[in-house]
Amino acid sequence: MPSTLLKKQRPFTPKLLKSKVELPGVENLIRAMLKKHRTPLMIIRRNVLERQFQLFRKCLPQVTPYYAIKANPHPDILRAFIEMGASFDVASAWEMKQVLRLGAAPNRIIFANTIKSVDDLISARRSRVRLMTFDSEPELYKISEHYPGAHVLLRIKVANRGSTVNLSLKFGADAENAFGLLRKAKSLGLVPLGISFHVGSQAKNVENYLQALEITSGIFSEAGRKGILLKTVDLGGGFPIQHFEGEMGINFERMTSQIRKQIRKLFDEKTEFIAEPGRFLVGPAGVLVTQVIGRTFRNNKNYYYLNDGIYGDFSGMVFDHCTYEFRTLRRGQKYLSALAGPTCDSFDTLSTDAEVPELYVNDAVYVKNIGAYSSCSAAANFNGFPPAKTVLV
Ligand SMILES: *Cc1c(COP(=O)(O)O)cnc(C)c1O
Repeated sequence: MPSTLLKKQRPFTPKLLKSKVELPGVENLIRAMLKKHRTPLMIIRRNVLERQFQLFRKCLPQVTPYYAIKANPHPDILRAFIEMGASFDVASAWEMKQVLRLGAAPNRIIFANTIKSVDDLISARRSRVRLMTFDSEPELYKISEHYPGAHVLLRIKVANRGSTVNLSLKFGADAENAFGLLRKAKSLGLVPLGISFHVGSQAKNVENYLQALEITSGIFSEAGRKGILLKTVDLGGGFPIQHFEGEMGINFERMTSQIRKQIRKLFDEKTEFIAEPGRFLVGPAGVLVTQVIGRTFRNNKNYYYLNDGIYGDFSGMVFDHCTYEFRTLRRGQKYLSALAGPTCDSFDTLSTDAEVPELYVNDAVYVKNIGAYSSCSAAANFNGFPPAKTVLV
């Protein structure tokens, strides 16, 4: 008899559902902050901003990150990234002024909106923000009129399969028109530098990047043969994060090792790479702390009303198609409960099946990994409930 069968079998024990491990560090931080600040409070941890930035640099050493400030344009966050030596992706004159005013250099900014108003183009010229994207001929005429000599990247339409937020439905030229558009840019006196794309936000499927790079290298070869030397590839944003503990299918290291391999395979060493990560750099740094302002029992469950909601810092549930994991400082037996925001709108319901212990007025409810696409898309004062104050720690 093989010896393995002689071994005593362990008795079968059903696996108990382990309650999630709470990070004492985060909870201690929240307790300390609650002594000093009112809620709702968005805590941004500088060490996590740095960790994400360094991780990006380490995993994609040949790619210069331009932080997409739309994810969270809070001045303290921008200052932190300026200190780290980041570059910036802006989509409007307001965003451009926001980073310039804090000291970012104009040659470290890309104006990555393919459709720019004339006023915004004039602002870009006055501020010497020369690098921008486009995806159509009419935009080229506008750029050449208001910013002669600008450096342009053609944004192409690429697959957004498996991304939470599709960013190719509204922007991006068809790849087969790429050369014609680049030639047009040149004939109008602009400098066609290369290609940009965006695979969609929270892009869990690395194939989108690999394919987009392949299409891009095809355009580089065609342009080279026909006399336009391209040198810059802009990989856009999309790099995904875990919004809740144990979220599957997200592995930045693995994803970027495939991207690195593809870059080595398809492009020569002179090619320059940039990217526009937003969520990846700022999402994990954010912890939102709210408090219970009232409770009731309805529809057979406890309803807890928080002082922040969908019109506030949970706006990402609408605009970012995001779901969050609600945690409490209070411990105890958990029950399926409903969490709602403070406004009069029934739509302002955050969850009808949150697993939380019995909560009381003033108890804290917090959410991690909520630094991106949250505060910045909140309505300023709907129903008179202001969104969270942001504090960088
Ligand atoms: C939104 C956006 C980004 C940032 O996307 P993330 O998914 O947050 O990394 C970058 N570039 C452009 C053009 C965008 O529209």
